[in-house]
Formats: sequence, C-alpha cells, structure tokens
Amino acid sequence: MASPRLAITVDLEFVDSAFLFRGRNERAPAGTGEMGLNGVEFIADLLERHGCRGTFFILGEVAENRPELVADLANRGHEIASHGYSKSHPDLRELRRSDVHEEIVSAKEILEDIVGDDIAGYRAPAFAMDEDVLSVVRDAGFAYDSSLVPSRRIPGFYGDADAPKLPFEATEWYGVGGISEFPITVAPLVGLPVSGAWIRLLGRMYALWGLSKAMNAYPAVTTYIHPWEFIDVPQFDELPRRVPWRTGEYVRTSFEQLIARYSDQIAPMGEVLREYDSGEFSSEVVAP
Ligand SMILES: [Zn+2]
Repeated sequence: MASPRLAITVDLEFVDSAFLFRGRNERAPAGTGEMGLNGVEFIADLLERHGCRGTFFILGEVAENRPELVADLANRGHEIASHGYSKSHPDLRELRRSDVHEEIVSAKEILEDIVGDDIAGYRAPAFAMDEDVLSVVRDAGFAYDSSLVPSRRIPGFYGDADAPKLPFEATEWYGVGGISEFPITVAPLVGLPVSGAWIRLLGRMYALWGLSKAMNAYPAVTTYIHPWEFIDVPQFDELPRRVPWRTGEYVRTSFEQLIARYSDQIAPMGEVLREYDSGEFSSEVVAP
C-alpha cells in the first residue's frame, strides 16, 4: 500500500480579495492589491527546501499582472492551476452562464499562454460550486475540480457534510461526468477543514492533530492556504477580524512544522489524483 499523499494547495490571491469577497461593495484600501506577494515566495521556498512541490490555484487577474510570477512557479516545478478570473470572487452560481464561461475560460487561457501547457485543475472562488458551474469547468477542458468542502455547514460560506471525503468521479455528487473532484480534506471527528483560517482560529495543535488523523484515515489529503496568511496583515476597519488574526509568524511556523513532518508524502494535487485513480492506494481505508 502506498503511503497517504498530501497536496499542499495555495489559492493565489491577495488581501484585496478578502475585501471584495463575493462582490461586496467595500473598496479595498490602497496598498492591499498585492499584499501577500511575499507569502508566495515564502511557501514556494519552504516547499523546495524540503524537496516538495505544491499546487497554486491562481487568479486570472493576478496572472495578467504578474506573468513572471506564474512562469517562475511553473519553472520551479510547481503545479499551476486556475482559481477563476476576477479578484472580486463572484459567486459563479449567481452569474449568467455567459459570464460564468468568461470567468472560467479566460482565466484558463491566460495561464496556458504563460506556462505553455494545459492547465488541469480548477478551484472556484469561495468554493462556490454547483452542477451548472461544474459542467462549464468540464467543457473548458479541466481534468479536475477542487471546490467541494465536505465539512460541517458554515452558514454563508461552505460545507456539505454528506459529500464524499475522497477524490471521486463528479457524476457521483454533481451528476457531471468527465471530470474528477478532489474534495477539501476535513479533520475526522471535528468535520472542519485543516486549512486556511481554521488553522489560525483553532490553532496549530488542531492543524497538526487534524492532519495526522486525516492521513491515517484517507489515502489522498489536501490543505489550502492563501499567500497573505504568511505575512502580518494589519487590521483595517473594514476587514473581518478573522482575516488578519494570527497571520504571519504563527502561520509560517505552522507550515514549517507541517511540511517538515510530511515532506516524503507531499505531491502536487494533479499527481496525487493520478496516483489515487491508478489504484496504487489500498481500498481498505475506512473513514472513522
Ligand atoms: Zn480564493
């Protein structure tokens, strides 16, 4: 039995997307547009120091402004994937189909032009996904989506507690064939992701415990983080308090420990999925 694999994924957007979240009207203060850029460098370097590669879900708007950043990550061996086009993180389930198409297809083309290769992975802004959006993602030529969060329901955000916890053919949950889904891993028993703000709110001990439980329960595991979580985000008045809370040193140390612990098992999401689909993993794994 192959050992469990862990995909470290980075949703590559900056602090301004936390202000513009789902098209709310707040204007992002000047200077937040690329706040978090240093965090990209931090996580890429950290992964490489341990001989690991990550997966970067990159916004089309960020890629347009920073093509050299995308090319550099690709050249360093990281997987480049799409996080849609707009910084404002529109809820695609509420847009007209032509706008959904534009958000998804334009972002894929921008990334493919930069890296000169097919982009296989997609993650929806704010993890907002349904069968109509997924069929557009599939038709755009993506091989996999990673937007489903099988966690407890978090009102106004995400959570489908009954959804599959392991990668699967998307017909199973969405009724859309021809594309795989890699769900965000949730900690067994707790039922919450071991990712992003949860690491800061519930703490490093939760993150390390939750991941070890998940790695015991599941052969394919993933965590997500944002580049700005690695830097000290100031508390702007308009910003929800959970956004800057424990950003910077706390998150950097957490990821240093996490990546050191699992360095032998970390691989880009596309590779984890291929390995999982090839059946190299034991099917004996039973979730608690
Ligand atoms: Zn995002």
